[in-house]
Amino acid sequence: MNLILLGPPNAGKGTQAKNLYADFQIPQISTGDILRKAVKEGTELGKIAGPLMAAGAYVPDDIVIGIVEERLKQPDCAKGFVLDGFPRTPPQADALDRMLAKNGKKLDAVVSLEVPHAKLIERGSGRRTCPADGSVYHVYQNPPKQAGYCDKCGAGLIQRDDDHPEVIEKRLKKYDAETSPLKDFYAKKGILKSIDGVGSPEGIYAEIKSALGKS
Ligand code: AMP
Repeated sequence: MNLILLGPPNAGKGTQAKNLYADFQIPQISTGDILRKAVKEGTELGKIAGPLMAAGAYVPDDIVIGIVEERLKQPDCAKGFVLDGFPRTPPQADALDRMLAKNGKKLDAVVSLEVPHAKLIERGSGRRTCPADGSVYHVYQNPPKQAGYCDKCGAGLIQRDDDHPEVIEKRLKKYDAETSPLKDFYAKKGILKSIDGVGSPEGIYAEIKSALGKS
């Protein structure tokens, strides 16, 4: 299965991509995760991407397209993949179509998680991340045992730059202006599946499977 998970920041794409991996062994390709790793490692890519990400801006199309093109060539993508956070702009969507066609592949479905803005801001601004092992908490919905510290490794938790409310608002505006139009693009191809992204992660996953004809 070749899938895209579409949805604004904090819609729950990462969680659902992991569920899809557990069920179907199709890897999650998250451009955000790849870029964050590059920033952490201080690579050339990370030096370009870091300030843009912290400001809630997009990394240039040609850079992310190159990242995805390389990643899709890896053997673990042979059985399928779940793209999470890519494509985000019409040129990225066109480039994806071209790279898949070149390899005789096509998209099976685009799952769009629909969540109201207020909910997205609440989810994002309460999120705390462990800089050491990547664990993710929420101050209300999933608090660590000791406030401010990771349950697993004890490191002090941080709020990611792009989880600050003003940056979240900016990212949502960008999503509405630049990424939302992709829904029409995929609806016209007949492969868009819109899913209500409010509710329990398990319930939302059940909806996704049913929309994919896999329940
Ligand atoms: P994410 O974890 O998917 O929300 O991505 C975090 C940040 O990485 C975004 O706010 C962008 O700055 C950057 N980014 C991730 N994917 C893309 C993409 N497909 N195009 C441009 N920028 C991206």
